[in-house]
Amino acid sequence: MRNSLVLLSAIISFAACKSDKKHKSSEDATKATIEQQAIKKIDVHAHYKYERDYLADFFKKWNMQGVLVDVSIADSVGVNRSWKEYLDHVKTEPDLFYLCSSLIGVGIDNPDFAQKSIEKLEQEIRSGARMVKVWKNFGMVTKDASGKFIQIDDSRLQPIWDFLKERKIPVMAHIGEPVQAWRPLDDPNNPHFGYYTDHPEYHAYQHPEIPSYEMIITARDNWIENNPGLKILCAHLGSMSHDVDMVAKRLDKFPNIYVEPAARFGDLVGQDSDKVKAFFEKYQDRILFGTDYGTSSPQTEKTAGELKGEEQNLEESYRRLWTYLSTADSLALRGQKNRGLALSEQVLKKFYYQNTADFLKLN
Ligand SMILES: [Zn+2]
Repeated sequence: MRNSLVLLSAIISFAACKSDKKHKSSEDATKATIEQQAIKKIDVHAHYKYERDYLADFFKKWNMQGVLVDVSIADSVGVNRSWKEYLDHVKTEPDLFYLCSSLIGVGIDNPDFAQKSIEKLEQEIRSGARMVKVWKNFGMVTKDASGKFIQIDDSRLQPIWDFLKERKIPVMAHIGEPVQAWRPLDDPNNPHFGYYTDHPEYHAYQHPEIPSYEMIITARDNWIENNPGLKILCAHLGSMSHDVDMVAKRLDKFPNIYVEPAARFGDLVGQDSDKVKAFFEKYQDRILFGTDYGTSSPQTEKTAGELKGEEQNLEESYRRLWTYLSTADSLALRGQKNRGLALSEQVLKKFYYQNTADFLKLN
């Protein structure tokens, strides 16, 4: 592929040899677009719950596939999921999407909880699930009958981890939240200002009953340590996105974990670019590309103009990440300003595609 990139840029340079400044910038843009499309991608953390007419072409244009990650949320009626919609989505676009199921701790006191969960997961693995997601409701939301928040290292969950190990199905773990959730929300440039303004229920600072950041992260680390044979993808940089050194420490300690930076690029941009680049280079086989992008309402509820805007937004969002990762250009992301990482083609290829393909055994 390096050869084809060199050839393509040679063609572009030749075609634009008489370029003035204006030509030069459109030449750069074309070159960037071609390179961006040449690198195969899988968005390992996507939530395209609702179909869009533009989506298949959009993914193909970006040379991208996606893993549709289910989330289980308990409400007053029961457990809310996206599984059924994802299943339909994969049936219509089997070449573009993969499935990730989910697990919640509601009902953990029932003696058959683990067995029932395993039966459900077994069935969803048969339907195509390649991974199972656990969410921050472990640790911060769901309580057991004694009124305690269920932590991810709870021994009642162990039969489920043993089952997944046996089946060689990895877990995507979004445990805890960024450390800013436990701090006052006083800086509008905080990369998480918008999220905790919209979702005060997860702003732990306002809910002293929620266990501390340290306690949740310790339970998560115990769980990883207790299950060396379970492959775990720590979503959102393992809720340690404010400090790549903290992430590196876990990657060094636990050979069974991998990380992905969905919705945490703002935290990366806020750190020294040379340091973040060195982190991506050192752990180039263990960082996977994820975004958390998706669709949150049915297409029929949107006007043509809104759909156009949504597609443009998505285009700009994927492009901004590409600019950050592949160039040394200055950019702003979630209130943070810095220059891009200019990662090598080899690192980009692993990050955008190969690491996820290996992790989920797609080939
Ligand atoms: Zn997500």
